Parts: sequence; structure tokens; C-alpha cells
Amino acid sequence: MANVLDIQGLSKRYKSVQALDQLSISVPEGSIYGLLGPNGSGKTTTLGIVLDVINPTAGTFRWFGEAPSKSTKRRIGALLETPNFYPYLNGFQNLRITADIKQVPHAQIQHVLETVGLAHRQHNDFKGYSLGMKQRLAIGAALLGDPEVLVLDEPTNGLDPEGIAEVRELILNVAQQGKTILLASHLLDEVEKVCTHMAVLRAGKLKVEGPVQSIMATNDLVFINGGASL
Ligand code: ATP
Repeated sequence: MANVLDIQGLSKRYKSVQALDQLSISVPEGSIYGLLGPNGSGKTTTLGIVLDVINPTAGTFRWFGEAPSKSTKRRIGALLETPNFYPYLNGFQNLRITADIKQVPHAQIQHVLETVGLAHRQHNDFKGYSLGMKQRLAIGAALLGDPEVLVLDEPTNGLDPEGIAEVRELILNVAQQGKTILLASHLLDEVEKVCTHMAVLRAGKLKVEGPVQSIMATNDLVFINGGASL
């Protein structure tokens, strides 16, 4: 199976901090790929670099076997930070604003609302949504444009247990539609439940990469601060 993303020797230094150190990983097409590591291990830096919002100090990455470009960017949807939705607009209206910014036809909005399970609540104001519904709408915004790859940074952070369950189920549903998902998490149980493949990062370095089942079978992952590491 082809890889949607190949990262080679990626490094990032912020003054005295080596945030990433020679990271090389590959994200297979159709996988749900988890970047797992404790706080400060370089997950967000990795996602920022491959989404072109952070410049690497060294290294390269290729999307779909190509150098990153406008056309590769159009094939990727990302949720790095919570979007600023308007509390007094409803779900549909909020997504319509994102659709206009992304120049995506309005016809896609309905499909996305169905995918994220909010079609029946689309006429309700955003401010009345539960935490899980708010995050599902944010994932919906990332899905506008029908990307082949969805990139999510800590998608269940700050959610209540119900919201966590909803978002994890949504990730599985989106993957079933044939999209590849790359997500960062500090939660071993999240990666174990949701992901097919994983990379474990520690202090900017890759510890291990591969299918989740084989990594869990052959490595002793220990929990640190509710997160996990090697
Ligand atoms: P978290 O879950 O806390 O975001 P992370 O695994 O995503 O952790 P990064 O945010 O990538 O880790 O941070 C990696 C290291 O780089 C950390 O030590 C962090 O303090 C440092 N760092 C990140 N951004 C900057 C910046 N703009 N300036 C200086 N240091 C930074």
C-alpha cells in the first residue's frame, strides 16, 4: 500500500530546545495513524511542519509521493486548534462560513453534517451544543473540501467522556469512508482503541513505529502523567 505521507530526517530547533530530532516516519494510505508521546515530545511540531505552518530546521516530507504544493494541500483537511465558531449562528451557518473561506460548494455542507452526526441539530445555535458536538462540528469544518487525509491534534482533549466516545467513533467512521487519518495523542488507550498504526515519540525522537497490534505485543509501554511512553 502506498504512503500518503513520508517524513525523512525532520528536525526542529527552537533556540535551546530540540523539539524534533531526525524524525523519519511513513503514514500508510487508509491507516489511522497515531503520533503518541507525552507533552513536549514534538507531536504538534511534527503536524505543524507537515501542514506548512512551521519551518523545519532540517529534513523533508512528501505528501502523496510529491513535494508539498497547493495541489497537495487541497487533499488534506486539518484541525490543529479549535476554530472560532459563532455562538449565535447555527451549525449549518457556521460551516457555511468555513465553506466560503475554503471555496467549497455549499452542497457539501449537508453531507458533512451527516458524517459528523449533526444533521438533526444543524438549525440549533452553536452555543447550545455539547462539547462533543462542538468538536464534531470542528472536525466537520476540516472535512469540507472532501480531503483524502484528515489531520487532528489531540482531538479528544478537554472533552467529557461522552464527547470523547463520540469523537472516537467519528474518527472510525471517517476512516471507513476511505480517508487516511493522522492524529496526535498523549493517551495510549486512545491510540490503542482508535489507531491502526502508531509512532511513539519521546523528546523529539522516534522510539518505535508500526502497526498498533505488533507494537503493543512487543513493547512495554509505560504510563507517565496519564500519557504513555517507552
Ligand atoms: P503538547 O502536547 O504539550 O503540545 P507536543 O508533543 O505536541 O506536546 P510540541 O508542542 O511539538 O510537543 O513541543 C516540543 C518541544 O518544543 C517542547 O519542549 C516545547 O516546549 C518546544 N516548543 C514548541 N513550540 C515552541 C516555540 N514556538 N518556541 C520555543 N519552544 C517551543
